[in-house]
Amino acid sequence: MNLTVLDPATREVLGQVRASAPSDCARAVAAAYDAFDSWSHVPVVERARHMFRWADALEKRKEDLAVMVSRENGKTIVDARAEVRRGIEAVEFACGMPSLMMGDALGDIARGVDCVSIRKPLGVCVGITPFNFPSMIPLWMAPIALAAGNTFVLKPSPQTPLTAEMLAQIARDSGMPDGIFSVVHGGADAVEALIGHPEVAAISFVGSSAIARVEQERAVANHKRVQALGGAKNFLIVMPDGVSASTLEAVMSSAFGGAGQRCLAGSVVLAVGDAGDRFAPMLVDAARNLKLGRGTDPSVGLGPVVSDEALARIQGYVERARTSGATVLLDGGDAPMDGSFLAPVIFDGVNPKSELATEEIFGPVLAIVRAATLDEAIRIANRSRYGNASSIFTNDGGSAREFSARIEAGMIGVNIGVAAPMAFFPFGGIKDSIFGDLRCHGKDAVAFYTQQRVIISRWPQ
Ligand code: NAD
Repeated sequence: MNLTVLDPATREVLGQVRASAPSDCARAVAAAYDAFDSWSHVPVVERARHMFRWADALEKRKEDLAVMVSRENGKTIVDARAEVRRGIEAVEFACGMPSLMMGDALGDIARGVDCVSIRKPLGVCVGITPFNFPSMIPLWMAPIALAAGNTFVLKPSPQTPLTAEMLAQIARDSGMPDGIFSVVHGGADAVEALIGHPEVAAISFVGSSAIARVEQERAVANHKRVQALGGAKNFLIVMPDGVSASTLEAVMSSAFGGAGQRCLAGSVVLAVGDAGDRFAPMLVDAARNLKLGRGTDPSVGLGPVVSDEALARIQGYVERARTSGATVLLDGGDAPMDGSFLAPVIFDGVNPKSELATEEIFGPVLAIVRAATLDEAIRIANRSRYGNASSIFTNDGGSAREFSARIEAGMIGVNIGVAAPMAFFPFGGIKDSIFGDLRCHGKDAVAFYTQQRVIISRWPQ
């Protein structure tokens, strides 16, 4: 069976990939398992050299990748270039593996006894990734796993498999040895085949919370190491002294960048005091002026959402919100062309307990919730079952400090719309935004993709 990929801006067929049957997944794991023995014995400096070459090859093909991301996912070319850049930075991080993998040593822990700890790779690692960052999220995983000496099987979203194929092709072109990095395609069946496979050592999952939770439990039951990053509902607190042009720019990019289909999308503005009265009209003006269209058109500020199914789901939230008592400030409007488009939607006076303020909508829909004080705003944000990211906009150090200390989120921004850690820091949330302990990239990823061995030696004195 083939998976057909549609351009969400035009509904034209972009390409096809072959769906992998469970037996294909098993074959990919078997090949990765066979390749592990020799790859894990390649000295880490040589493995790092492969990552340098991969980074270099990605750098040369970065515009092709960005165009593919933009066409397959729908996001603007500016957003696509930014994600490719972030992905390449993760490969660059993996180039430092000789230092990152270093262990500890202590001589003479007893008379004539020395102790060292070293880090070893795990074996076959699997990455299961979502549609919203088709190049960046696979690159959060594969390069670090590979540089650490593991082999890697990627199962990308069936909505964006073509970018994954391009990443693998670029890896091959850069001289990556056969069998150490492969791509399989499909949905739940492929995931089940991979997570249940006895020769898979570790699973990195990024996607929605409901599936992340189930897959994390399944992986643990199969004695696999697992990290599963889930969904989000991110709150942006705007203080009265934070209403400004730069806050507007940051909030607009957070709410509507990637058509709101980011795990770091700010989807609720918590406007404190009189901030809402001044900020809401600024948001409406800016959102009304966003040009909708095909992401590859450089003049476009908002592309389509990923599919008609996603569009129908988002419109369902909007319809229900209309009858919830919230005020519609901006109403979506008509699509500019025949694709999966939704113009920005903004609701004000949203009840903080309503669906709009609590559930992940994953589209260009912004809710404004009014709060009397910073304390009330923090309490509202902390009631969320998610804890991915949150930001405050203020000029006041005391407010920023109180927010940073009390807010329950893994990624915290002060005057930052999208609080995305760079590759050398860990990326991930808390609460229902993550299942498992270690996050993606940064030192967490090195810990995730390696296991420690402690060697204690005694020699006659
Ligand atoms: P999704 O959960 O639908 O899919 C993620 C992956 O799981 C895909 O590879 C998909 O094929 C697979 N999958 C789908 N259904 C499955 C099932 N029943 N059993 C097993 N596997 C299944 O997510 P999506 O729609 O592709 O991506 C959007 C979601 O990802 C949002 O919730 C977003 O917040 C989240 N996300 C989180 C982060 C983060 O860092 N926390 C980053 C990006 C995206």
